[in-house]
Amino acid sequence: MNIQKLQEHVVHQIAAGEIIASPRNALKELLENSLDSGATKIDVVVADGGFKLLSVTDNGCGIAEEDLPILCQRFTTSKIRAFEDITNVSTLGFRGEALASISHISHLKVVTKRANQDVAVSAAFEAGELRHTKPIAGLQGTQVNIESLFFNNASRLKSLRSRKSHEYAGILEVVTRYAIEYPGTFSCKQQGDAQPTVIEGRTQKDKIARVFGSKVAGDLLELINGAIPPLGVVEIRGYVSNLDYSSSRTIPYIFFVNGRLVECRPLQRAIQGVYSLNRPKSSSFVFLSLKLESQNVDVNVHPKKTQVSFLYEQEIIEKVCENLESLLNKQESTRSYSTQSLISSRFTDPDTETRPNLGLSKGGTTTYDALPSTPTRYEYKLVRTDPKQSTLASFKVPKLSPRKTKRMSELDSEDSRNDKDQSDEDMAHREPLQGDRSTQEAEQSQPLRLKPRQMNLKSISKLKKKVSDALSPRLTKLLMQHTFVGVVDANRGLAAIQFDVRLYLANFRELSFHLFYQLGLMDFSNFGTIHLGNGIAVEELLELAGIQSDHLDQLETMSEMLEDYFKIKLVSKEKLMVTQLPLMLLNYAPSFANLPKFFAQLLEANWDSEEDCLHDVLVALAHLHVPVSPSTQEVENIFDTIKRKFIATADLQPSIIEIASLPELYKVFERC
Ligand code: ADP
Ligand code: MG
Repeated sequence: MNIQKLQEHVVHQIAAGEIIASPRNALKELLENSLDSGATKIDVVVADGGFKLLSVTDNGCGIAEEDLPILCQRFTTSKIRAFEDITNVSTLGFRGEALASISHISHLKVVTKRANQDVAVSAAFEAGELRHTKPIAGLQGTQVNIESLFFNNASRLKSLRSRKSHEYAGILEVVTRYAIEYPGTFSCKQQGDAQPTVIEGRTQKDKIARVFGSKVAGDLLELINGAIPPLGVVEIRGYVSNLDYSSSRTIPYIFFVNGRLVECRPLQRAIQGVYSLNRPKSSSFVFLSLKLESQNVDVNVHPKKTQVSFLYEQEIIEKVCENLESLLNKQESTRSYSTQSLISSRFTDPDTETRPNLGLSKGGTTTYDALPSTPTRYEYKLVRTDPKQSTLASFKVPKLSPRKTKRMSELDSEDSRNDKDQSDEDMAHREPLQGDRSTQEAEQSQPLRLKPRQMNLKSISKLKKKVSDALSPRLTKLLMQHTFVGVVDANRGLAAIQFDVRLYLANFRELSFHLFYQLGLMDFSNFGTIHLGNGIAVEELLELAGIQSDHLDQLETMSEMLEDYFKIKLVSKEKLMVTQLPLMLLNYAPSFANLPKFFAQLLEANWDSEEDCLHDVLVALAHLHVPVSPSTQEVENIFDTIKRKFIATADLQPSIIEIASLPELYKVFERC
């Protein structure tokens, strides 16, 4: 066959088939025309699934009689004048194609009357041309009747007619969705039905109840987000199902962007992700209306106008999901959840009334909102989408320590003892002390004690309370759930840790200080021991610290208490010797470089008040244990203990700095 130019009516017919693919499409076009004309009452009548008749009657502004000759010609519109107008289009239509297309594939009749006309005009169109007009009685507004849709497209008709019964449902779906979005009264019926389906109501929620039933409407949360100028958002408003929602029907999510019913797959997937994490396997309902600055929305993506693309799509989707999350979380927290606190056992003091204030209720449980909710990884925040891909944690060599297999609640009460019970066994593999490693023969051991000694010292309880009062739930949660990434700079005490999709730089010296202080409080009077062989002269250590020590008798007097409570053994030979230090953490020995400062601090302790004295010794011990130039293993050991035992206080805020966040990085890559 030779190449030939197609006849004009064939071209129109082909083009029309693209724009009007089904009765439902045609109906959407007519509805949008009515809404553009300012109608507040729209009635739809359908016969034979829209194939025989599709009629839309509105009370809008009507069509001027002089416009009728070109009404159904292609690319004739009253809505834009120049291409640039598309960027600011406030109407639903603008392409001037719908009526033209319809007139090429059906018999089209229009009855219309403007306010300034005495009578209405009835006009008939065929293949884009006005065939005839006649005056007729009628009210203000327009009625468009599409008869015999696809009469000249046998194959389309054949394929669609088999789904005829679905078509009316599809038409009703479009009418009801627009009826919810727009004010006014909408009705839809099949020809011959006595009563139409009428959708009206004072509020959107009333209309949702009318369309989907009061059961659905009863379990909805209102989602409202005001203007976000940097993202070009004017307003986001809608209704989303709550955690109690249950429906056997799947109602596809409904999205309007600038008054246009659209499909938005990325938004749909992101919202589904939020729901599936909060309510796996349950259905959900979403009706959302996004009003965006029109210059940010490209409505000219497809002739059917069911898709739009808009600027800052990802950011706007995140915003919607954040709103949804917080609505669901709010509902969650108002439900009376009582969950075992993960950290209650970190500091419980069973024998005293003064329980640390960690949001604990009397029964040892904490209300759900005492700690920030576990960060949930929603799909819209994820980049690694293949669950088989390795995570950071999988690169780490698993530890065979039996304590890893225990639950945290079991650990905290027993852990210190377990650590020390293992100490004999571990002695063979023990690392030598840092500092003067070659000359010192330190030994770690713990006298066999089946039950930990219970010390009911008020001052210790008070010190514990001070820590728990300063609790930072956010930081504690972060440290409890972090993954250790590695040492960044051992000399400056910096390590990288990951939490959720964020990377943090943590000052492990600062953290170690607080950790050992807390370990001191937790295991008070129950420490293991590190033997220092023949001992080291305290005087010499103090000399190293630049202190002339002529009042060591104070330490000597306190030596009994220091040994009993802290396992610091001072022996008076010719000189005062330190022969034993507490073992505060298994496989971790303090650096000898810290010893001079430790004794200098001990000398400075306030021995007059019990609380101050215990506090000062614990502070000195904590300083003693701050790592100087630790191995990665030692730092990992510290972070592992932090994960299991630590209560982060608010003053640690500057010690943990966020250095990268996956969503932010992703944005950077996108812009490259
Ligand atoms: P578009 O909506 O893209 O402008 P259409 O082919 O759908 O193109 O409509 C062509 C023109 O007909 C519209 O611009 C509008 O002026 C007029 N029109 C169509 N339907 C109506 C209606 N129901 N009420 C008033 N005017 C209408
Ligand atoms: Mg239109």
